[in-house]
Amino acid sequence: MTRFVYSPHYVVNIGDHVFPTRKFGLVAERLKDLGEFIEPQPASRRDLLLAHEQAWVDKALKGVMSLDDETLMELPFSRDLALAHRLSVSGTIMACGRALDYGVGLHIGGGSHHAFADHGEGFCMFNDIAVGIIKMRHERGISRASVVDLDVHQGNGTAALFANEPDVFTFSMHQEDIYPQPKAAGSLDIGLAAGVGDKAYLKSLEANLPKVFEHEPELVVYQAGVDCYEGDVLGGLKLTAQGLRRRDQMVYQECRRRGVGVAVTLGGGYAQDLSQTAALHAQTLLIFAGLEDKILK
Ligand SMILES: [Zn+2]
Repeated sequence: MTRFVYSPHYVVNIGDHVFPTRKFGLVAERLKDLGEFIEPQPASRRDLLLAHEQAWVDKALKGVMSLDDETLMELPFSRDLALAHRLSVSGTIMACGRALDYGVGLHIGGGSHHAFADHGEGFCMFNDIAVGIIKMRHERGISRASVVDLDVHQGNGTAALFANEPDVFTFSMHQEDIYPQPKAAGSLDIGLAAGVGDKAYLKSLEANLPKVFEHEPELVVYQAGVDCYEGDVLGGLKLTAQGLRRRDQMVYQECRRRGVGVAVTLGGGYAQDLSQTAALHAQTLLIFAGLEDKILK
């Protein structure tokens, strides 16, 4: 039975926003008949402290964010928002655990790769990827992990959080000339020019993905942002739905072939048409669920 990690509380009212949280609900809607949903509980303070500084965690949990904090995060703070982000951290922890137990963990959420130890940025409050990896290293006896971050934006928070951790390899392939500026230095950063389409993108992925596995990870966390899509409002890459499908297949096949557990998180996606974004996220999860035949055209 396929299990998707999801909480209906990911959908939070943040007003008219380029990142409507409704997208999580729309992805869930597409997948609800294809598997069972398992719900995370809010991440504990202790778990958040695995990757974050106490002052930042306290601000979020006590609800005392400043206007500067919110501006940097590009999100209007609320208790519901903090809850959603804590749940999402826990969701990625669950997906990492399932990746180690069953080979694949599927999270209808997560991928908050712009969150740093001491602040949030770019729609991200907590770095669920970093917390998930650190928790698995502490509690599941693994030491080596890799992040494959294919969101159109560089995974700056994740790169910074693991900058001094040689056992965690952070790979990000992204568009070079957009946020974040400057980029943080990860283990392997590939910056692509605006306008790059399927062919050049997939060629670059094919050349670079094996380097992730040379690191011999025991766990891969995949940030599968679909903002590389040609119809994306924030990104300038030109991948088609078919190109994204091939991208996800490549990551899935590499992990499977090498027997490395992979936790999938959604990341960004800002197509003009929200249902298109949801369809692309669902496509990713179905590929990793081994249910490619259920992808709707
Ligand atoms: Zn993004």
